[in-house]
Order: sequence, then structure tokens, then C-alpha cells
Amino acid sequence: MTLINDKNHLQYFAASFHSPLLTAIFATRNGGVSGQTPETEHLRSLNFSLNNDSNENVAENYRIITSSQGFGTADVIGVRQIHSDKIVTISCETRHQPREEADALVTNLKGVLLSVHTADCVPILLYDSRNSAIAAIHAGWRGTFAQIGTKTVQRMTELYGTNPADIHAAIGPAIGLCCYEVGDDLHEQFRKQHGAGIDSFFTTGEGGKPHCNLKAMNEAFLISAGIPQNNIEVSELCTQCHPDLFYSHRRSGTKRGTLASFIGLQA
Ligand SMILES: [Zn+2]
Repeated sequence: MTLINDKNHLQYFAASFHSPLLTAIFATRNGGVSGQTPETEHLRSLNFSLNNDSNENVAENYRIITSSQGFGTADVIGVRQIHSDKIVTISCETRHQPREEADALVTNLKGVLLSVHTADCVPILLYDSRNSAIAAIHAGWRGTFAQIGTKTVQRMTELYGTNPADIHAAIGPAIGLCCYEVGDDLHEQFRKQHGAGIDSFFTTGEGGKPHCNLKAMNEAFLISAGIPQNNIEVSELCTQCHPDLFYSHRRSGTKRGTLASFIGLQA
């Protein structure tokens, strides 16, 4: 994963499989137009959420990031994220329908940019290089618990004949083990569902509470789904620890912007 400094301070992380023909990027908060007044400074500057921001600002932020990739804003397809394991398939028939409630998108269409929003949760991009199929996933603890990544791989296999061995995966910046404190009950819930092996993704923090490594857990589930470990890259950056690069819900509560990640094949 490489930090790209584009023109006009636009900054994003590109997956190693990102290329002129395949956009696979995790935006930072830098390079947009939001948060130019003292009251809205917390939105500075590449915000993709309409909470507390103007339609004009968000539209301009979409224009900035999509045009940097050779796409238009009308090419972006997102979902109304609900912390579920629901996956939507984007086809010629469905691409112009209103946004559905879901937390992952898959397609083999060219000329569309699949997008998910995060502010600590884990964004995941998948690319099946053999069948030119792609996916974008939003995995908070609920999505991770429900193995939304595994289910997305399965959906790609059903729809496009994807062999998981051909998938390249990028797990983007998200809250790290350092900052993601959870309750004992959550740890227990994970252990009940996934067995004692899940303990390796939990540590005890200084305050005595469990900390959870969501990125590593998602990586492990993707490996279980058949994606070779060598094909998976994981961002080491914690969204809460880097206010210069990321919005973070844990750090700022609702007084924050929202990050976006994109994957799409050129038409
Ligand atoms: Zn941290």
C-alpha cells in the first residue's frame, strides 16, 4: 500500500494492485473542500458524509477524488451501510437503482466505482484478476463477526466463478489494536461464535479491558476463505492515532467527517 500525494494536496493510499486500469484506493481526509470555517474545522477536508456538511462540498469532494482516477461522480455506487452482512450485486440492470441497505458490493461491470464509507471500521477491497470481478466491503465489529468478507468471496464465486486463489485483497486504514478497546462481553461473544482461536486477536489493554485487532481478524477470515496470505495487504495505520490523515469515530464521536474507499475497473 502506497501513500499517493496527488495534485492540490489530494492524498490517498493505493493498493499494490492499483493500476491505470484498476482503481483501488483508500482516501485520506486530505485534499477536499470541507471544513473551511472554524465551526466546521472537524470536517477538514475530504469528507464524504452529508451529516453536518453541505451537498455542494461533498459533491465537490467526490469530483476531486473520482476525476483523479479518470472516473466521473456518476460512476460511484455506494450503499446505505447498516453494519450487516448484506451484499449487493451491481449489474447493468441494478446500477442505476437507488442505494440499497447493505455493507458490501460486488460487480464485474467496468466503468463503475464501488465505494464504502468508514471512520474506524475496516474497509476491504477485493480484486479477482482472472475474472475482472471486484468488491468493496465495510466491516465494523458486527460485519467482522458475521464474516462479511468470507461471504463476499463466496458471492464472487457463485456469480463470476471466482477462485479465491486469484483474489487480491487490500485491508485499509482502520482503528488498530492500540485503540480499539471493547467490552468483555464482546470478546465472549466472539469466542462463543468463532471458538477459542479468536483469542489471538484480543489483548488486554492498560485499563484492563480487552482490545481487539479487527484488521488482523478480517485478514484471517479472508485466508480461511481461500485467499493466499501473500495476496493480502493490510494497512498498519490506526485511524484514531493519525488525526492528520484520518477521521475517527472513537476520537471525535459524531463531530467528524467520513472517509471513503473506492475500487473500479476502467471501461
Ligand atoms: Zn491507535
